[in-house]
Amino acid sequence: MTVKTILVTGISGFIAKHCAIELMRHGYVVRGTLRSLKKADEVRATLAKQCDCAGLEFAEADLLADRGWDAAMQGIDGVLHLASPFPLAEPKDPDELLRPAVDGTLRVLKAAIAAKVPRLVQTSSMAAVAYGHPRSRTAPFTEDDWTVTDAPGVGAYTRSKTLAERAARDFIASTHPALHFSTVNPGLVLGPLLDRDIGTSGETLQMFLRGKYPACPKLAFAVVDVRDVAKMHRLALESDAPSGGRYIAASGMAWFVEMMRPVKTQLGSKARKVPTVELPNFVVHLFALFDPASRLVLPELGRRIEIDNRRTRVALGMTFIPVEESAPAMAQSLIDLDLV
Ligand code: NDP
Repeated sequence: MTVKTILVTGISGFIAKHCAIELMRHGYVVRGTLRSLKKADEVRATLAKQCDCAGLEFAEADLLADRGWDAAMQGIDGVLHLASPFPLAEPKDPDELLRPAVDGTLRVLKAAIAAKVPRLVQTSSMAAVAYGHPRSRTAPFTEDDWTVTDAPGVGAYTRSKTLAERAARDFIASTHPALHFSTVNPGLVLGPLLDRDIGTSGETLQMFLRGKYPACPKLAFAVVDVRDVAKMHRLALESDAPSGGRYIAASGMAWFVEMMRPVKTQLGSKARKVPTVELPNFVVHLFALFDPASRLVLPELGRRIEIDNRRTRVALGMTFIPVEESAPAMAQSLIDLDLV
């Protein structure tokens, strides 16, 4: 069998590093893109602790420029497109997220098509599925649902993920139906961090471990373990299913407090500052008067949607790691990395 080479965009990212490991453990060669090759040694060192990195290569390319993408695609058999900015705070200018997400995705797609790459998996998000809908909705969200980007309270990141996935699907449908394309749509990604470049999901849990919050805001998220997200990217790449698959990556829904309780129970004194009670909603509303970041979460406060991931479980044969395992795994890695 010829060894296949897969391009992983944004290989310095939390999820992308796990994807690269998953691929290399399954016999693929990986080429990872970086905005700057200065990060290459650091990424290689992280990955080499987890798997045999023979053949690992890097290429320099930024989502905001054409330079580097054609060269990065040479000799590539498949692309996992993960690179996209994922900040904790709302940017002053939404274009800071929209341009790399939407224009960057189209740039990656065009370069892949020009190089006749047969398969591409885009990392989208539950942010592209379940936001901007009426609070009264009780029907579970499935792979058929789309975020309503112009609804009140939908932030720039959520819009960037929705518009990037839409742009990719429209572009392929209209210009290149031969490319096998699918998306993986993760909820909040938990699970072990591999190095000190921790990204936004790691920073969220880090704040709880450091005792920044005395109690958990009543917010619920679709949650998933990063090891499952990585596996799903590989399975989507290998799948015999028709092009166009949209795979929800979520083990289920969890309130923040349901993520924190197993952390506290399993990590004991190492997690002594982790709150396991809920903050009354009116306190968050008061806080939001002064804090723009808190204002962003108000539309989601106290709202717990239902999701139905049955189609994804069947199509990819997934059994998901539960939050009781993935939240403590992320917390333990933050402690091991001396980041608490
Ligand atoms: P990270 O912040 O860890 O990784 C983001 C990656 O994108 C980094 O490699 C970063 O490079 C790269 N990137 C950002 N801007 C650019 C740019 N202009 N050009 C090239 N590369 C760029 O985030 P995650 O690993 O958490 O996220 C990866 C993907 O998964 C994203 O698409 C995100 O939207 C999606 N996702 C994440 C979820 C989560 O909970 N973590 C949930 C759902 C979806 P650099 O190292 O140079 O900054």
